[in-house]
Amino acid sequence: MNTKQPVIDRARSEGRSLLTEIEAKELLKQAGINVIDTKLATSREEAISISRQFGFPVVLKIASPDIVHKSDAGGVKLGLKTSKQVAKAYDDILAAIRREYPRAAIQGVSVQKMARPGVEVIIGMSKDPQFGPVLMFGLGGILVEILKDVSFRIVPLTRRDASEMIREIKGYSLLEGYRGQEPVDVSSLEELLIKVSSFVEQNPEVKELDLNPTFAYSDGAVAVDARVILESSS
Ligand code: ADP
Ligand code: MG
Repeated sequence: MNTKQPVIDRARSEGRSLLTEIEAKELLKQAGINVIDTKLATSREEAISISRQFGFPVVLKIASPDIVHKSDAGGVKLGLKTSKQVAKAYDDILAAIRREYPRAAIQGVSVQKMARPGVEVIIGMSKDPQFGPVLMFGLGGILVEILKDVSFRIVPLTRRDASEMIREIKGYSLLEGYRGQEPVDVSSLEELLIKVSSFVEQNPEVKELDLNPTFAYSDGAVAVDARVILESSS
């Protein structure tokens, strides 16, 4: 059965349930969610010309529906400042992936703007057998992995849910401006959570979703990585 989302239909027709980062960002962008500008390059030359279009520095990442953790296998190169660095990163990524995952289907390499540093947060969605879609919010990196400092709310989120789930994590003080850092714009994070909640409501064929990480700033927030897993089609 076709959905109204060409990205989802294409993945399904290829028998895939994992969208690539580029596909996931395309879907999320259509839903009004702020994602970092990202384009697919299928040659070294194209990677350079997209980088010039975006302006340096840029980030290159492997684009493959078979690779979930892109940085584990040498599939992510950050902070590339020149065409020469982009060309080398392009070759290095493909060489590393062909070595580590010889059977992976490779769509190309994604080129994206390098986001300025911010507080890394995670927004996720998974489906609970009893409650249905549930959103998760937490701080990125080791805070989520080791301390499991996250909060959950059932979709659809109210504004109040969004506000509470951000404020109830233990690391909330990091968002309020820790040690002289500028405080993060919490209301834009609330809006982001609400938008993700509506996206989830409108796309029941999405089984799991991760914006990991999203960079939070004093003036907004932007997702730099996105992962979408589809329900298996019936
Ligand atoms: P993975 O598939 O390993 O999760 P990511 O796309 O999340 O790969 O990239 C790994 C890390 O690189 C991120 O956690 C983030 O810190 C950094 N990163 C990724 N993309 C960007 C970007 N566009 N700008 C700045 N930093 C980035
Ligand atoms: Mg990631």
